[in-house]
Amino acid sequence: MNLLCMTFLTLMKLHQSPAGASPLRIPAAPPQPPAGPSEADQKFAEEYLHLFYGYQPKPDRRKRAAASRDDSDQTMGFCHKVKKMQRFFGLTPDGKLSEETLTVMKKPRCGLSDVEPYGGAVRWRKRTISYRIAGENLPFPASRTHKAVRRALKLWSSVSLIRFRRREAKEADVSIAFFSGAVFSADHGDGSPFSGKGGALAHAFLPGLGIGGDVHFDSEEEWTLNSTGISLPVVAAHEFGHALGLSHSPDPGSIMYPAYNFAPSLELSFDDVKSIQHLYGENPNFHLQSLKSPPPKTPDKCDPDLSFDAVTELQQEVVFFKDRFMWRKHPSFVETRITLISSLWSDSVPSHLDAVYENVEKNVILFFKGDQYWKVQHLILQEGFPRNISDLGFPSRIKSVDAALHFRNDRYTVFFTGHECWRYNELRAVMEGSPMLIEQQWLEIPFPLDAAVFYEGFVNFFKGNKQYKYDFGQNRIVSVSRANDLMDCEMGKSNKHIS
Ligand SMILES: [Zn+2]
Ligand SMILES: [Zn+2]
Repeated sequence: MNLLCMTFLTLMKLHQSPAGASPLRIPAAPPQPPAGPSEADQKFAEEYLHLFYGYQPKPDRRKRAAASRDDSDQTMGFCHKVKKMQRFFGLTPDGKLSEETLTVMKKPRCGLSDVEPYGGAVRWRKRTISYRIAGENLPFPASRTHKAVRRALKLWSSVSLIRFRRREAKEADVSIAFFSGAVFSADHGDGSPFSGKGGALAHAFLPGLGIGGDVHFDSEEEWTLNSTGISLPVVAAHEFGHALGLSHSPDPGSIMYPAYNFAPSLELSFDDVKSIQHLYGENPNFHLQSLKSPPPKTPDKCDPDLSFDAVTELQQEVVFFKDRFMWRKHPSFVETRITLISSLWSDSVPSHLDAVYENVEKNVILFFKGDQYWKVQHLILQEGFPRNISDLGFPSRIKSVDAALHFRNDRYTVFFTGHECWRYNELRAVMEGSPMLIEQQWLEIPFPLDAAVFYEGFVNFFKGNKQYKYDFGQNRIVSVSRANDLMDCEMGKSNKHIS
């Protein structure tokens, strides 16, 4: 089905310049021929793209009757939509139904489309909005359900001039209801049935009469009031954003991001606050509050002061980690897009990491934070993890690592911690000898480091907003630039070769 996409990608690979030609490194193992998605996954993806990206598959009978050109058109249409979805979620936009792309598609999310033009111009023409909660299928006793709903509504009313008033009557501007999923695949009167556990968690309608402003939750989800299962306050806050007139945001730090993601503190991002204030004006109390604790901003890849928590190679890509976000740089694509760490590795990997590296040979990725490390294979956390870093051979005085640099061909990894570096033998799975001083091993490299990665034959060290390109053969720094130098920022924004 997505044959054309694959052909296109193969062509791109052929035209690619050879990967990082370091004499120290063997070329990465040739990629396994892609098995391709199963028929069920292909069908699932078509349905997903139909619901959220406006993909229109041609009716089967027409397809059968049509010439092969028609088939190609359809394939191109499908690829185009896959790419659109991949761009939205910060995946490599190759149009392929990869394991990763399917993983992101299968994550719980909002039932509204990511591309339909809605929101912005639609808003309530009054400042006080009434709401009611229908009594059936509630996930918790009525008072607790109401408390969760109130918490979510308050997020929006505390920053804007909108007010909410509860109504017991049958009619309200915002009618909140829990509907059971696909029992006899019946919808609940709005043509959008829920799918049972997973998939679409809820949907909402833009401000307006009748069903306008209403919010529906799938009662078959495992609703919770905390971080296990699906958090009702988190999903409710998102859906109320729609009920007030907001559409989906591609900013993964926004509460209007369509994929479910649980952040430890339920709060609006800087952009959410600006969007709702644009529609309804600013709450005067918010101004004072925001001076004390401003709403969080999603890190900007072109911020000249940007620093990273960790940087790693991942197959052909370089991945930059910051807080709960990451950017992926693929050699075939100019753009580096932001996404959530959890969009790929769910909640199995923590945010605010210290170091990350990929062991290509064993096909595992190791994540470090504090005195723990996590081992992931095929996007799945391995059994028994996280473990203590002392398992790798660190003495108990080492409480964390700053950076990890993996040497693919020599099968060892150098860990940087404080002013020391440690060499870990990947083949024998032991720490070799005693630590060395960074100042003796890596001349002029500052410490403690933030991150280290191989890139185009050089080692790139990161500290603060600077990046040190190091020639391993000559044992010296060849250039210093902004930490975000490898991001696709406009020229001038990143100060290249500042020394
Ligand atoms: Zn939504
Ligand atoms: Zn509904």
